[in-house]
Amino acid sequence: MELLDGKKTSNDIKEEIAQKVIELKNQGKKTPHLAAVIVGENGASLTYVNAKVKACEKVGFESTLIKLPTSVTEDELLAKITELNTNEDIDGFIVQLPLPDHIDEHKVTLAIDPMKDVDGFHPENLGRMMLNLPCFLPATPAGILELLDRYNIETSGKDCVVIGRSHIVGSPMSVLMARNTKIGNCTVTLTHSRTQNLKEITKRADIVIVALGKSEFLTADMVKEGVVVVDVGITRVKDESKKSGFKLLGDVKFDEVAAKSSYITPVPGGVGPMTIASLMLNTLQAIDMK
Ligand code: NAP
Repeated sequence: MELLDGKKTSNDIKEEIAQKVIELKNQGKKTPHLAAVIVGENGASLTYVNAKVKACEKVGFESTLIKLPTSVTEDELLAKITELNTNEDIDGFIVQLPLPDHIDEHKVTLAIDPMKDVDGFHPENLGRMMLNLPCFLPATPAGILELLDRYNIETSGKDCVVIGRSHIVGSPMSVLMARNTKIGNCTVTLTHSRTQNLKEITKRADIVIVALGKSEFLTADMVKEGVVVVDVGITRVKDESKKSGFKLLGDVKFDEVAAKSSYITPVPGGVGPMTIASLMLNTLQAIDMK
């Protein structure tokens, strides 16, 4: 078994980006600038946003963090998005999900200028992804492609099963793994909560990408020997022995599945850091798209 080390790979990518930022500066060009909007005080969301801002500092990007209270109205948030769309200094921005119930996530996603949509959630970017046209790919699926690529995982002709069909992970992941691209050309099965006999489906897979948000869901009896496993899930579980009071679990029962896998991502240190690296890559791409 070999670990698909997202932490190391994302650090490699960040060093490459930092080098490019130096080159941009030397050429007298603009420093890439990423903004992040967060609404409310959700602990996990704050951790993710802070990690994104820290990554910006590491690669030499400028960053702006906009914290809005849970009480912010939908109109106020949309006004902030318009401001970011028109601010020439901001190259890309994200609105951290989830949003409070009184705000319509779709309205917010649609309000973001597709040319600044570095999370790749806008329908224009998702449509362009379907057509294999230049676009911002959704950060988590793009990070997974990058990880598989850097570990030279052969995907062509393989049987890939994706568990979970969310708009931000599972659905785009299934499209990307089926595209006629270097990391792609899989025969893909997209599964969800209504899927019957999931175990029969996962057992024949060469690659399993798990994104359902249920800790330790994928067990050894659900996979075949030599499988490649990508674990997207992150669940906080109480753990008094940790300073933070919790530990992170993935959607895969790691030890037993790892024993049968050829490659597997850990949690933490797998897909999470790759998502952040993708966001940095997308922000760099935003400069070119201009
Ligand atoms: P989500 O929107 O909650 O979607 C979960 C999906 O799993 C749904 O499509 C659901 O099916 C499916 N599902 C639920 N129970 C199932 C079952 N028993 N069998 C098969 N499918 C089942 O989740 P998400 O936003 O994609 O996130 C998934 C996990 O990834 C979460 O733990 C999240 O924290 C994590 N995540 C990590 C990163 C990262 O950077 N590492 C990024 C994003 C998300 P239905 O559609 O039928 O309800």
